[in-house]
Parts: sequence; C-alpha cells; structure tokens
Amino acid sequence: MPQKYNQKCDTANLPELVKSFRPNKPKKINETRPIAMWTEKDVSDGKIVDAFVLILRTRGCYWALHSGCTMCGYINDARMEPVKSENLRIQMEKALERYSGEKVVKIFTSGSFLDPNEIPPDIQIDILKAFDDAERLIVESLPEFVTEKRLGEIRQDNLEIAMGLESASDEILERNINKSFRLKDYMNAAERLMKMKIPLKTYVLLKPPFMTEKEAIEDAVNSIIFASKHSSEVSVNPVNVQSFTLVHHLWRRGEYRAPWLWSVVEVLKRAKPSIGEVRLVSWPTAGGMGRGAHNCGICDGGVMGAIETFSLTQDLSAFESLECNCIDEWRDMVEIPSFNRFILQ
Ligand code: SF4
Ligand SMILES: [Zn+2]
Repeated sequence: MPQKYNQKCDTANLPELVKSFRPNKPKKINETRPIAMWTEKDVSDGKIVDAFVLILRTRGCYWALHSGCTMCGYINDARMEPVKSENLRIQMEKALERYSGEKVVKIFTSGSFLDPNEIPPDIQIDILKAFDDAERLIVESLPEFVTEKRLGEIRQDNLEIAMGLESASDEILERNINKSFRLKDYMNAAERLMKMKIPLKTYVLLKPPFMTEKEAIEDAVNSIIFASKHSSEVSVNPVNVQSFTLVHHLWRRGEYRAPWLWSVVEVLKRAKPSIGEVRLVSWPTAGGMGRGAHNCGICDGGVMGAIETFSLTQDLSAFESLECNCIDEWRDMVEIPSFNRFILQ
C-alpha cells in the first residue's frame, strides 16, 4: 500500500516500507541516451585534473528493484527493465563522442556497473577498454558483484572500484539504510580487490534517517576510519532528499533535515588526521539547497568552496577562516541530546 505523506510510517518491515515509495512501472525512457555526462575536477597522481563523468542508463540497481536504500532514488532515472545490448553500445558511442581525453573517467549506472543484468559482461569489458588511456577509471559496484571471476575478466591497469559501504555499523546498515549487504560482505570484497591490487574507493553516508546530527557525525567519522584501512580514497556523501524515497516522505512531514554543511566540515576535520595518506573527499550533491546538506543560506557558498578545496588538496587549513552566526545553532543541534531524532511508530 503506497504511503500518503500525512501518514506515519510503520518501520517494523523496513524493506517493504521502502518499496512502497517506489514507482512500480517500467518507464518509457529513450534507452539509447546516457542519463548524463559532464566534466568536473578530480585528482590524479597528486595533481588536480579534469574528470569525465558518465552515467549510463541501465535496468537500474537490483536492490532498488527489490526494495532499496532509504535515501536512494536513483531508480527514478533507470529503465527498470533490461536495456538492450545494442542500445548500451549506442550510449557508449555517444559518450565517446563527448569524451575529450580527461585523465580521470568515472562511469556510473545508478546501480552496479559489474551487475551482468545491468551491463552484460562482454559490454563491461568493451566499455572499460575504450577508456584504457585514462589515468584513473572508476566504476561503482555493490560488493555482491565484486567476485574473483568478474575482477579477473575486467582487470586493467587504470581500473578502480567504488563501493558504497555507507556505514561501518551493521545495525545502521540494517535499521537506518536498509542496505542489501552487511559489513563482512564489504570486507570480503575489499580483500578480493586488495589481492588483485585494484584500488578501492569507499563511500560513507552522512546522516541516514532516524539519527540525530551528533549520532550521524560520530558514525561517519568511525566509518571513514574503518573504511580507510581498505581504501585508497574515502568519499563522504551527505544525504540529499531524493524523490520516491523514505527520506523524501519523512522530509515532507518535517521529520528529516539533510545534514548541516558544518557537520560535513566537522567529519572531515575529525577523520583526516586518523587516516594517514588515504584521500578523503566530499562533493555534497545539492549542497547549499534545501534538499541537500545546507547551513543558513548566507554561508553555504563559502563552506561548499572550502569543502571542495579540501577535497582537491587534502589541506585542512581550507576550513580555518570559516565562520557564520549559524554555527551556534548547529552547535546546539549537535550538543542537545536527541534534539532532532524522530522516532516513528
Ligand atoms: S544506494 Fe546503491 S544499493 Fe542502495 S538502492 Fe541506491 S543504487 Fe542501490
Ligand atoms: Zn551560516
């Protein structure tokens, strides 16, 4: 039964609840066009360089089709039915027409690049080979698909795999995020990558639902330190409110606020000294906007700029001159226990 926005949630069966917010029909979407392509800055071999980002349109994340994570609405852009091989190849040709030799290439699918039901194995290999000249080639996958066989088939020198661990707490993975896997699955996949000398980039989530701002900060810091033992880079993803998700439902009811940008800064400042040479980055989606990590509206641009500078340079002095009156409100939010926790019946 779909939830109405004025309805309280019954969280006893989180997998079913998350599913109740999803669109349930395959979309009539042009499957010969990628979802998006753009360029941005990233780092390769210690230098700031251009990065080409490609989001291929596929069937979508298997877990989102089954249930999904509480904050993720990527399935909204997916076809929800298999995309024909020839159309995946046409998407690829369109991407190559646009690609102009950027040194970093990131290929996403709103799911798992390595899932054979999203991209057949032979096409995975062809896509990766097409970007053989990039210095860094990053694809995302759930740990379920990071098998020795798959890695053996796709392995190439510039390849890096990104996995969304989100939290190093099994309890949070289960109760707050509804993740498809548990910590040991991530660790096993990380071990397989390490054995094959394929660098791992790990995403850590900041502020899944049903947590206070303080709990969210603590969990993100702990998760970064944990993930850094397995990763060459850790990326902090503050939750942004995406449609057709449980987080969106809570937000519309006034029961969820995306994290403060001050919290992102706090997490980066606290975690960086504990993780040595492992790169720590954050690119808050919709940062400074109501649906993304935000502060008071006055200081958001400056704080976002400092987060970007830190992500590119790893220099914590980027945060030194930041100030705004709203920092006191944020401190109250963090220091008053359970101030913004919403317990749902
Ligand atoms: S966060 Fe990843 S695993 Fe979860 S539903 Fe979205 S794409 Fe799937
Ligand atoms: Zn402010």
